[in-house]
Amino acid sequence: MKKEFAVIGLGRFGGSICRELIAQGMEVLAIDIDEERVNEYSEIATYAVIADTTDEAVLKNLGIRNFEHVIVAIGDNIQASILTTIILKELGVERITVKAQNDYHEKVLRKIGADQVVHPERDMGVRIVTNLVSNNVLDYLELSNEYSIVELIAGIKMDGKTLLELDIRAKYGVNIVAIKRNEEILVSPQAEEKIKKGDVLVVIGAYQDINRLEKKMS
Ligand code: ADP
Repeated sequence: MKKEFAVIGLGRFGGSICRELIAQGMEVLAIDIDEERVNEYSEIATYAVIADTTDEAVLKNLGIRNFEHVIVAIGDNIQASILTTIILKELGVERITVKAQNDYHEKVLRKIGADQVVHPERDMGVRIVTNLVSNNVLDYLELSNEYSIVELIAGIKMDGKTLLELDIRAKYGVNIVAIKRNEEILVSPQAEEKIKKGDVLVVIGAYQDINRLEKKMS
């Protein structure tokens, strides 16, 4: 089923969200105050309109509350981003994701009821650095301040050993939830499963525990 999204602010971030949603087959209403940006997206989005989203009447007329998910990607204008979010919330939009410029902005957005706050530049920076400093971490997903899911490449020290022999859960307090090997994926691997060098281990646990495992095993 096609989901209906609205993207407000068509800068680099909002623009890329819009393109990707369309690529994934979704319906997207693209909104910006700037005519040129809207023209650019009129060919890409399902609909594109010029509007100032800090005006409640404008958002109401667009029928914004009928969209399942609204993404606020207004960049530097923090005031406009906050005001837009408050109005969306008041109009009863089901799910609101907002791009934050800084921690203060995020705090305010959470207070006024944004369902999800993202910091694309900061998060991408952290992701890139994680990959730069570690040769073994392929990707990770932050679950909370404490826990994450990380994809680690099995090193030579693990080669040919079973999960039981490695005793990872007892030694590090983390769990291997899946093993990716070539095109195959083994979900919930058995204790007797032998690891091969180059396998991608999908590990869930606390950051410091995963870190210890990564250092020991590479
Ligand atoms: P990025 O950092 O993602 O490139 P920008 O600051 O370039 O972000 O883009 C933010 C977009 O939000 C701009 O295209 C701008 O015209 C739009 N915008 C700013 N204020 C409003 C508003 N009140 N209503 C609608 N769009 C707005």
